[in-house]
Amino acid sequence: MRNWSGHVEFKSTRVEVPATLGELQLLVASSPLIRALGTAHSFNAIADTAGVHVSVAGLGSPIEIDSEACVAWVPAGMRYGEAARLLDAQGWAVPNMASLGHISIAGTIATGTHGSGDRNQTLSASVAGIETVTASGELITITEGDPDFEGSVVALGALGVTTRVLLRIEPRFEVRQFVFDGVTHAALLDRFDEAFSSAYSVSFFTCWAPDLTGKIWMKRREGVDAPLAGEQSAGASWMGGQLAHGKRHPLPDHDGVHCTEQQGALLPWHEALPHFKLDFTPSSGDELQTEYLVPRSEAVRLLGALESLAPRIHPHLHVSEIRTMRADNLWLSGAHGRDTVGIHFTWKKVPDALELLPEIDALLGAAGGRPHWGKLYSASPESLPRRYPRFGDFAALANRMDPGGKFRNDNLDALLGAREEHSDRP
Ligand SMILES: Cc1cc2nc3c(=O)[nH]c(=O)nc-3n(C[C@H](O)[C@H](O)[C@H](O)COP(=O)(O)OP(=O)(O)OC[C@H]3O[C@@H](n4cnc5c(N)ncnc54)[C@H](O)[C@@H]3O)c2cc1C
Repeated sequence: MRNWSGHVEFKSTRVEVPATLGELQLLVASSPLIRALGTAHSFNAIADTAGVHVSVAGLGSPIEIDSEACVAWVPAGMRYGEAARLLDAQGWAVPNMASLGHISIAGTIATGTHGSGDRNQTLSASVAGIETVTASGELITITEGDPDFEGSVVALGALGVTTRVLLRIEPRFEVRQFVFDGVTHAALLDRFDEAFSSAYSVSFFTCWAPDLTGKIWMKRREGVDAPLAGEQSAGASWMGGQLAHGKRHPLPDHDGVHCTEQQGALLPWHEALPHFKLDFTPSSGDELQTEYLVPRSEAVRLLGALESLAPRIHPHLHVSEIRTMRADNLWLSGAHGRDTVGIHFTWKKVPDALELLPEIDALLGAAGGRPHWGKLYSASPESLPRRYPRFGDFAALANRMDPGGKFRNDNLDALLGAREEHSDRP
């Protein structure tokens, strides 16, 4: 068994897919070493275990909407995009989505997955409660206001096996997507706030090619964001770029057929906020990903500083994506306590593709850049408490919730300190 990109071979002996909550509780209680697996889209070994993998995709509870409180319980094993379709069909939406809907609800929130938008928080920050099977097999519910809540959402699978998630919802809305080609780094850095506040969700894609030019993908919320002058007319220009005529893919030389509709088509929120259609392969598949979440106040300086690495980044890169997100309070969120900019790299799967990670970490880490938990990074575990101010509180929570270390793996041992009795080293 391997992860989505195929480069992590899991050590687990088997994957259990319990059909009932009772079966799951028994399995967790009786397993010395066990770990929840979502859809295995993470690029590092965070989801691995040398014990048993468990998927909650078989539990199949229905979506329960409380329209008074504007919240919905969704099954943790459901793909985010499927939950989005079901919410939309009943007139509801969640504020934001990642670039793809293929990932599970639980896996999404466990790693602080995010989309983009100056006014939007990470997808984890839309969580108002979670139901989790703890190490003893007990089912507990943790909701906003509980002392452990802010440590229990972006939880890296370290606290238990999540079965259902309570998401904050709002009435369904519509989005139009536009792409502008040929926006230079210089224009972006000059007019950074204008670019990212121009629509509900904005991404800048660049290959760090010698011309230092990229594309802006703008997702404009109907009835909320003002249209840009001339955005509907052929030949419209903005920030020095030109409105794209054909459909674009984030990766150069890839056909846009698998991407969500662009060119201003009016779409339900869940068909426009992700870059990739749910029923097709997202991105390239033949890739590795890295991302750092940096303080927004430092983003322009850091992006400028990265230009000195551009000649060495470019040959190994499919594409980089720059996104924004609003601060939240979740202890291990990349946006904890500060408005944040995501600086992302989709690397080609070639030898030496990751050779720049230490230099990227040194530059972005010195400014408090936090590595995305589900992607590849070279930050030392010792450096993470400085970057995540509540890291020590999370380690204490993990040790309290899982005193025997049954949810531990090598990745968590490195982060939280090894526990010999359950080490999954061979
Ligand atoms: C093509 C592609 C595009 C991506 N785009 C984005 C993006 O736009 N934004 C972004 O932020 N990230 C993005 N990612 C990263 C991705 O969102 C994260 O890696 C996410 O965690 C994947 O979810 P998953 O269901 O595959 O989780 P997995 O990789 O299976 O697991 C991740 C973690 O979640 C835990 N977990 C899973 N299920 C449970 C459960 N039931 N209970 C407790 N813990 C659980 C696992 O133990 C593990 O620690 C992308 C990844 C790919 C491959």
